[in-house]
Order: sequence, then structure tokens, then C-alpha cells
Amino acid sequence: METVNAADTHALLERHFGYESFRPQQEGIIEHVLSGRDAVVLMPTGGGKSLCYQIPALALDGLTVVVSPLIALMKDQVQALQSNGIAAAYLNSSLQFNEERLIHQQLRHGELKLLYVSPERLFQQGFLDQLQELRVRLFAIDEAHCISTWGHSFRPEYKQLRVLKERFPQVPVIALTATADRAVRGDIAASLALHEPQTFISSFDRPNLSLAVLPGQDRWRAIERIVGRHAGKCGIIYCNSRAGAERLAERLQGIGVKAAYYHAKLDPMERSRVQDDFIQGKLHVICATIAFGMGIDKSDVRFVIHYNLPGTVEGYYQEIGRAGRDGKPAETILFYSYADVHTHMNFAQEIADQHYREVVIAKLDRMKEYAEAQVCRRTILLSYFSEETTAPCGNCDVCKDPPKYFDGTVPAQKALSAVARAGEQLPLSVLVDVLKGTRSPEVMEKGWFRIKTFGAGSDASAFPWNGASRKWHSAVW
Ligand code: ADP
Ligand code: ZN
Repeated sequence: METVNAADTHALLERHFGYESFRPQQEGIIEHVLSGRDAVVLMPTGGGKSLCYQIPALALDGLTVVVSPLIALMKDQVQALQSNGIAAAYLNSSLQFNEERLIHQQLRHGELKLLYVSPERLFQQGFLDQLQELRVRLFAIDEAHCISTWGHSFRPEYKQLRVLKERFPQVPVIALTATADRAVRGDIAASLALHEPQTFISSFDRPNLSLAVLPGQDRWRAIERIVGRHAGKCGIIYCNSRAGAERLAERLQGIGVKAAYYHAKLDPMERSRVQDDFIQGKLHVICATIAFGMGIDKSDVRFVIHYNLPGTVEGYYQEIGRAGRDGKPAETILFYSYADVHTHMNFAQEIADQHYREVVIAKLDRMKEYAEAQVCRRTILLSYFSEETTAPCGNCDVCKDPPKYFDGTVPAQKALSAVARAGEQLPLSVLVDVLKGTRSPEVMEKGWFRIKTFGAGSDASAFPWNGASRKWHSAVW
């Protein structure tokens, strides 16, 4: 390895990217990689992972190969690098024959500093042989959590990446991800067969993002309030179905919001139009399935709403991470409903592979724990990423409005008695009707107005039957 000193890397940072200083961790990572050693880098979205291999690529005399799973992301990155005067290119299935031939020519002549490839491409017949003919000095594995079945977006072809260490034992590998809990982290190092890697963990804390969870009833009214609070500002609402995203966007348009929907079934032209309009601020609110937001660098997203419960904490954290990248206050809201838990659970039960099924269910449990938390939500999120916190954050709903405790023995007895008398057959909302003495259609139809506990809770008009029963329900569920 050539010796590159700190002054050199600083000069590269200024010259090619126009930045004055490194962010915490970046410099240490760059130095480590330049000394020829392997690294696992965990940094939140927007933390500045790319520079951790782009600066070494510039400093090293040879080629850096970047493995990245997302074709759209590759293209954006390469364009950005080229506009900074850096010799970069990408190889994936979207290229024309001629474009590809030109890149191969540049590779042979040693004219490229960075080559982005999809994993499929990397393992195409003969490609690794070709790379062995070149002066490859560094491999960067982006979105490295894809290698782990524990990760939320496992990609089988990532498993083959361990071949890199076998075929290029002298070339350091830097694996980067924004979404790794402890199990995923271990998996990354082991699956890539990294040699004594050092793990670099940046703080995942995003103190400018407020965190809140709201019950899933009456989401529309809450959304009207939130969107109204941020009138003229940009936000993203994540939905778990295409139809849901479309309906919501139409409703928002109906109240005069510049809204649009975005999902995988949209044709590519329309998709990039929506994305561009959002980036330019012509559209304010995007109702999207998870397909939206990957790789878009928009710093002034003021709110992110989850209309439905995400299946994993990693996915959730990555999505709320798209708010407030400019460091200014931004709001995040998660709607929590049992229906969503059921939907996820039904999907999970269909998974044939037992190990994978258990992983999916365990991850869902963690998400539920977060949604039902009675302690500072940020503490829970950060501990998920193995980060200790010393004090409650003051910027989540639990910190701002801590739960109040009361003696619930008598209400609990009333509720349990009603459940027992109805033969344990009544749904939660009907239980609340029975306790309050509401003659709702279901109550009338099933004759539950005749049971002894009908109306037993009507005196306690201030008692939050709905919320309390929900918590009991979740405790036994
Ligand atoms: P990640 O891949 O971790 O999500 P990026 O590498 O795309 O993040 O970086 C996020 C943003 O931060 C980019 O706009 C990038 O140019 C900027 N950035 C990265 N490092 C620095 C730095 N040292 N100083 C200023 N801006 C930086
Ligand atoms: Zn808090």
C-alpha cells in the first residue's frame, strides 16, 4: 500500500468534493482502509458513507470496485462523481452494448478510479477473471446488510461475495450499511470472510427528528392536522399497499394538497417525474410504498408518516431517516394498529423456511415493542442499534407526555368479567361498547346487552376503555 497522509486525503476532500472537513469517523475509516485492512462501516442514512471509499479510491493507484444492488443509485452516484471530475463508471444490465465496450476499454487502459457493479454483473461469466487482470486496489460493498438473512432485504447473490476474499486476498474490503443490528453486523464480517475487520459505528441518533406513535383509528383526521401544520412543506407518507397510497394521495389532493402517489407498479417515466417534482418542491406530499426514497438526496423533508406499521425497526428507521437531513426539526409519526400486525403475521406464517420465518417474526416483535413502548422511544431505537443512551431524549411523545399510572384493578375486573360472560367471543371494540353500555349493532345482534356487566363501566366516563383494553389486549396477545 502506498503511504497517503492525512494532508493528502484532506486535499482530495476539498478538491473533489468541496468540503472543508471530514465528519466524525470518516477520517479514521479512510486511514484504516488505506492501510490495507478490512472494515465494516455502520452509519445512518445520510451519514456520509460514500466518501469512506471514494476518497481512498482517489488516493490509491488503481481501481476501486463498488458493489451496489440498486441500479438507480449507481447511476446517480456515478453522475455525481463525474461532475466532480472523477473517472467513474458503472456496469449493469441497463447499458447499451457500445457504452459497455467503452467502459471495458477504459478499464483496460487503467483510466477509471471507480467502477460500480451490481452483484449479478460481478459474477457474470469471466468478469472476475477480467478484474484479476486489472489493478484492483479496493472493494467496497454497499448496502452490505443484503448479505444477511437477518437483514430486512436479503439478496441471495450477495452470499457469493465471499469469493472476493478468496480470489483477491490482498485487496482490502470495506462493507458499508445503514441498517445493521448486532446479528447482521456479525453476519456481514463472516459472510464476506473479512480478515480481522475493524467495525466502525457512527451514532445513529438523529436528535432533530421527533418521534411519535398514534393509534391507528381515525388516521385521516390526524394526517389532515399534520399536513396542515406543515403546509407548503414536503413530507412522505409510507403505506403498505399500492391501493392505500393511491387513495390517500387522492384524498390529499381533494383538500388542496399537492400530493402524488408512488409505487413499484407506476411506469418508469411517471415514477421519475414524481420523484423529480418532489425534489424540486413542485409536489409536497408523496404517498408511497417502500419503493420510494432510496437514494434520493432531499434535505428538507419536514415530516415522514407511517400509515401502516413497518415490519422491521431497520426499515422504519431508514424511512424516518429521510426526514430532516438538513439538521432542522422534522416530525415523524407512526400509526399503530392491530390490523397491520395481523397482516405482517399472515405474511410471515406463509414463509416456508423455518429459520427465515422465525427471523421475520422476531423482527416484527421488536417493531411492536417499539410501537407499544412506555419509555423514551429514542432509547429503544438506539439500543436496537446497540447504542447506549444516558438520558431520555425529550423529543418523543413518551418523553413529552409520559404515561400516567392509576390503579386499574376494578376496571380490569369489569373487563375480564365481560369477556368471560360473553364466552370470550367478543372483539375489542365491542367489549368497549359493552362496558360503556353502548347499544351498537353488534351488541344488539349478539344480545350482549343482556349480560350482567353491560354498562358496568359507564359511570367511569373519564376512563379510557379503548386505550386501556388495547394495552391489556396486547399484553395477552
Ligand atoms: P450515505 O451513503 O451514508 O447515506 P452519503 O455518502 O450519500 O450518505 O452522504 C450524504 C450527504 O452528506 C451527501 O450529500 C454528501 O455529499 C454529504 N457529505 C458527506 N461527507 C461530508 C463531509 N465531510 N462534509 C460535508 N458533507 C458531507
Ligand atoms: Zn424520548
